[in-house]
Amino acid sequence: MASTTPVAIIGAGLSGLSLALALHHQNIPSVLYETQAAPLDIGGAIMLSPNALRILDRLNVFQPLEARGYKFEQLYFRSGDDELVDEFEFGSAEKYGYSALRVYRYELINVLLDLVTQAGIRIEYGKKFDHIISETEQGVTWQFADGSESNAPLLVGADGIHSRVRQHLYPGLVAKFTNMLGITAAIPTAQLQASDDYSLPVTIMNPKHGAFVIAPQLVDGSEVLVGKQYRFTGPEPDREGWKKITSDKKWAVDFLRQGHENFPAIVDNATSSLSETKVNVWPFYLLPKLDTWASEKHARVVILGDAAHAIPPTAGQGVNQAFEDVYTFAGVVGKLGSESQLGAPGILKSALKNWQNGRQARIDRVLEVNDQINKRRMPSNEDVEFKPIDLEWLYSADFDKMVAEYAGSLE
Ligand SMILES: Cc1cc2nc3c(=O)[nH]c(=O)nc-3n(C[C@H](O)[C@H](O)[C@H](O)COP(=O)(O)OP(=O)(O)OC[C@H]3O[C@@H](n4cnc5c(N)ncnc54)[C@H](O)[C@@H]3O)c2cc1C
Repeated sequence: MASTTPVAIIGAGLSGLSLALALHHQNIPSVLYETQAAPLDIGGAIMLSPNALRILDRLNVFQPLEARGYKFEQLYFRSGDDELVDEFEFGSAEKYGYSALRVYRYELINVLLDLVTQAGIRIEYGKKFDHIISETEQGVTWQFADGSESNAPLLVGADGIHSRVRQHLYPGLVAKFTNMLGITAAIPTAQLQASDDYSLPVTIMNPKHGAFVIAPQLVDGSEVLVGKQYRFTGPEPDREGWKKITSDKKWAVDFLRQGHENFPAIVDNATSSLSETKVNVWPFYLLPKLDTWASEKHARVVILGDAAHAIPPTAGQGVNQAFEDVYTFAGVVGKLGSESQLGAPGILKSALKNWQNGRQARIDRVLEVNDQINKRRMPSNEDVEFKPIDLEWLYSADFDKMVAEYAGSLE
């Protein structure tokens, strides 16, 4: 039987839930399928910049979220001997309308879930997408891992970096392990014993031991994340291997302490007491640039968020770019109009091509910012005076204008 819900979304993570909401704002019903048995808290906090916060504001997420996160505007960088050497703007209420917000991932998931529930959007948990059975001009039919089948005019893979939906577009393509792991822990801010004028969040760069990050979280800043990147040697672990690495946290605590005597005192204090229960291990994966985010044949299968692009963490734009995908995608689909128009061959395809080109152009610029930041972090560049990085285009973006351009309806 043909489904009457125009859009099916695979994955109820940050992209999937926000997409369901953004579609709801366009009066487009959707249904979510999530492989986990219940909403998943993978731990940790994320940093949201004004581009994403503007979108979350449009979706009525910002107001309830604002009270749950830590506000800040600059990221500070210090040398190994604790000199302030650089700053990177992450938000500005004055310039862009929003300070940056650092908030626990589960807080954001909970706000999104509340709004999704209020909107009457259905989420089916314990439903693992397996593969596409067929795709026609009218829609797509797929199978879940439990053998059941479903169909919809449009299927969106918001199923993360290891996306199965992406297999329909790129059979055999897997995300590449970068051999880097982010190792983080949460500690009380008081443990730092930092003076009141010591600006946070800060990254302290040590030529031998790499960068040590300290970033406040919780609304009152009473907790900080501390972290370093770990270079993994040996072959990429399999599922069981990852389970072992991410569940046994003793090695991660030892790693965070390693070399503390070569950092300023604040790092020594930060690592003097670390609880294994507050430690997170985050492997970094990358994807090659993908030529298309919609199936070539009929554009009835689309990927977005981490499923379409995995952005290195340098500029902190991973999830922020996912929100840009979601809002502009929903806007474009909304402009195409009703369910019946969604079915019009060709129109959807060309609108989605414009959408992807526009999105990719912004992601390319984010990658350039990443490169600029990385260059500034090279130890040999310590004495060079840097020009400020232009971020106006990133943080002040007008997403409704972009939607109009992608949908080809701009006068
Ligand atoms: C510890 C950590 C810290 C991070 N910090 C930051 C940060 O500070 N700033 C930033 O911008 N980014 C950060 N990121 C990256 C950011 O989390 C991702 O960009 C973001 O989560 C992408 O969201 P997503 O919804 O596209 O994918 P995901 O969050 O991976 O969600 C995918 C969802 O799909 C589900 N799923 C997967 N396969 C299937 C299937 N076959 N069937 C059904 N459901 C499926 C999953 O269970 C999951 O719920 C961080 C990531 C981690 C892990």
